[in-house]
Amino acid sequence: MPTPISHAAVGLAIGAWTAPAPPSTRVCALAAACAALPDIDVLWSSGLPQSSPFAHRALTHSLAFAVVATILITRGMVRHDRARLGVTLGLALLSHSCLDALSTYSLGIAFLAPFSERRFRFSWTPLGRPDGMILSQLAIESLLVLLPALVLAWLGWRIRHRSAVPRPSE
Ligand SMILES: [Zn+2]
Repeated sequence: MPTPISHAAVGLAIGAWTAPAPPSTRVCALAAACAALPDIDVLWSSGLPQSSPFAHRALTHSLAFAVVATILITRGMVRHDRARLGVTLGLALLSHSCLDALSTYSLGIAFLAPFSERRFRFSWTPLGRPDGMILSQLAIESLLVLLPALVLAWLGWRIRHRSAVPRPSE
């Protein structure tokens, strides 16, 4: 299963490429936190049946949660470019569930909770095979998610900051 570090790295990349230009450290850090946020359900989901909306990978991994969390988080932000910031944070939140849906861990993701208990996963599930060794799973995840996300975040940060620097007039 994807680790919180990989989720945060994907959020960082989303922040670097989609935040209002030039992307700030604060917004990128917030996008990284949003990308890891859905796993907050591990605090209360132990022992709950998979059919519960409060089970792991249920309500906090749904589209509804992403929308509501985006609205609540952006409400407290500065008014400047709030819509663009909402898109960044919403994408970061949704990236978590999409990444989890690439694994076979658990019964899948309740994208439609609380309106449906149905769990989904993508047909390609390269992350977190249940019979795999933890070290090999971490290596696969690092190669497929963590390292590409960090490279993309670095590239996005550099390119968007460089293009935001005012050029001297000719
Ligand atoms: Zn998760």
